[in-house]
Amino acid sequence: MFEKIRYQLTVAYISVLTVILTIFTLSVRYTFARSLNQQLNVRLEDLAKAAAFNMDKEDGELEVDDDETLVGAEQTIEWFDLEGELLFLQGKYDLEFPLDLEQSLQNYNLPVPLRSFTRPVKNLEDQGEIIGYVRVSESLTELQNTLRRLDYGLGSGVASALLLSTIGGIWLTRKAMQPIESSFERLRQFTADASHELRSPLMAIKTNADVALKYPQGIRETDVEKFESISSASNQMTRLTENLLLLARTDKVSQIEQKPINLSSLLADLMQLYQSQAEEKNLLWQADIAQDLYLLGDEGLLRQVFSNLLQNALHYTNAGDSVTLSASRTSSKLLIKVEDTGIGIAPEHLDRIFERFWRVDKSRSYQTGKSGLGLAITREIVRQHNGEITVSSQLGVGSCFTVSFSV
Ligand code: ADP
Repeated sequence: MFEKIRYQLTVAYISVLTVILTIFTLSVRYTFARSLNQQLNVRLEDLAKAAAFNMDKEDGELEVDDDETLVGAEQTIEWFDLEGELLFLQGKYDLEFPLDLEQSLQNYNLPVPLRSFTRPVKNLEDQGEIIGYVRVSESLTELQNTLRRLDYGLGSGVASALLLSTIGGIWLTRKAMQPIESSFERLRQFTADASHELRSPLMAIKTNADVALKYPQGIRETDVEKFESISSASNQMTRLTENLLLLARTDKVSQIEQKPINLSSLLADLMQLYQSQAEEKNLLWQADIAQDLYLLGDEGLLRQVFSNLLQNALHYTNAGDSVTLSASRTSSKLLIKVEDTGIGIAPEHLDRIFERFWRVDKSRSYQTGKSGLGLAITREIVRQHNGEITVSSQLGVGSCFTVSFSV
């Protein structure tokens, strides 16, 4: 049981951490990429501004100053006239793309990825007149390499952080669960000891009450009813202590006995055992059990599982109802169904019926001898046999409990 809680806690912790780290990584990546792009854009704008000064119009002729110091190693500057005709080019990339005046910033995917910035060039003397255009470009290779290095760095950082956190998380949940596990173990031991110690005095009360009832002439007539109550209450308490002892036993994290059990004959036996009670109640008591269904497990505990289900089916049905037990094998599972056409369970109660001491009808548990522990015990035992129990039910129509074991 604690293994599962530990596992769920660790998974929850790692999931939360993964989400936080992913958000953090994406924000760092986004901010860094944005800043690099902005720096590149500013660089291109500054270069274009400087390059615009190298173009002038003299006597109606456009002239470009061949100043090689402006252009960087990964950059290109192109000057165009008003018709978009290339006048002069500096730098190592020949874009061969026509001027696009619609968008000042453009990315090109030549053999080398480039970003370009285009701006108009105004006459140096008459600042209003546009005399041509300048387009500056810079290779994006360096920017992309920096982002790739950042991705690798962030990726490996996140992976190592997750790995270390997983190890840390497993250790932490183990540490955090230790006190809970030991107090649960103490509680379990207390329940087991108390139930065990209560058995003998209960047996003494019951025996004495039964003996007194056997010879009623020795007691006053008005006391007979009281002795009957004592006997019935001690019966109920004996069943309760036995159930508590059984639960304490199934709660113990220990390996159950692993003997091959012939489930077919165990189920047929139980059907036989409760046959007379079913007839008394006028139920249709039927079985459809496949031959030679074998399972590794503890016979006593498995008997308890199906007794609980059959006793419930007997209890929560009325005269004329039917109870059917079927057992079959699929390729990977043994399926056992206990189906009845009894009172059924309301949908809002279905989730709770496997809880300890939970009963739909909370009154009259004393008279009926039902304590609400049967299904809790059943589920624990099934779990210990690596099985699963599910229920489907409809109020007033009936219930079907399905137990499946992997084989
Ligand atoms: P109880 O001792 O009360 O039978 P269980 O743990 O066996 O305790 O069952 C819990 C509750 O589930 C019962 O109180 C009952 O309301 C409901 N229940 C169990 N089996 C059936 C069934 N076959 N039909 C209708 N209700 C059922």
